[in-house]
Amino acid sequence: MIKVLKLLCFFLFPLFALKAEIHLNQLSEKESSQKMFAFIYQGYLKPGRENEYQEAWSKVAQYFIEFRGAIGSCLHRTSDGLWVAYSRWPDKKTRDNSWPGENAPSEELPLEIRNAVLTIKDCLDSDRKIPDLCMEVVNDLPLSSDDAESSLALSPDQEKIMNLVYEEVEIAIQEGNPPFASIITDSENNILAIAHNQANTKQLAIAHAEIEAIQLACKILRKKKLDGCIIYANAESCAMCSTAIIKSGISQVFYGAPHEKGSNPDVHLLEINKKTTPQLKVHGGFMKDKFIKQIKRGRNQ
Ligand SMILES: [Zn+2]
Repeated sequence: MIKVLKLLCFFLFPLFALKAEIHLNQLSEKESSQKMFAFIYQGYLKPGRENEYQEAWSKVAQYFIEFRGAIGSCLHRTSDGLWVAYSRWPDKKTRDNSWPGENAPSEELPLEIRNAVLTIKDCLDSDRKIPDLCMEVVNDLPLSSDDAESSLALSPDQEKIMNLVYEEVEIAIQEGNPPFASIITDSENNILAIAHNQANTKQLAIAHAEIEAIQLACKILRKKKLDGCIIYANAESCAMCSTAIIKSGISQVFYGAPHEKGSNPDVHLLEINKKTTPQLKVHGGFMKDKFIKQIKRGRNQ
């Protein structure tokens, strides 16, 4: 759990003056460089520019997440019309290395993002004074960098299993099902079940890969519980599958991509595991980029 993180007093204006002064309260440079880090942008908008601003912000925030190591972002509007946006990084160093500068060459900063930054700046009403804002991150339940990506290296056997998961996702994609797959093994990594999402084929919303794999493994073992078993998946499990994994007695999870934004309910394995006794051993981030690309391709087919 992240300790109390007394962070930021930022009076950042104009937006994206990224060399602007940052006031770090309480934390030394060394401490702050190792902890969850949020970068806050704030300002009032010129009348009638709200939609344009939101669209541009959303492009930039998404770009930070997809290409610049950010792990989340949020946009707020206060009751008196002050817009406050922030992006979060696992630590300050990742954040500091994330922005090439708005005048960076186009191979480093796509034109679309550069234009979005210009739009954001243009939407801001620089005549309105911005109140001071202090934020303190007291508790950060979703992903910490430790949780999100494991420092564990996969054994050669486990790498093979993850590659099989990848191939199984291809089958899901070919069938026109959502691009997810999972494999359950015993504690020695002997494969018990391989399954992919079959929600479309079966016309069954709960036919997620993990649910299918759990059912298969139970049939194979002729047991209700899969105590000590390991599940491998191409992505962090949704709320339903996370609960099923826990209920089934599986003790360890290896996954690739982090959960997708916008799932409903918006709570996933890492958060659910924090409320579980005993907790599963969860390791994430394996072949992450490859799985993220595959999921995107599967979603867009
Ligand atoms: Zn699921």
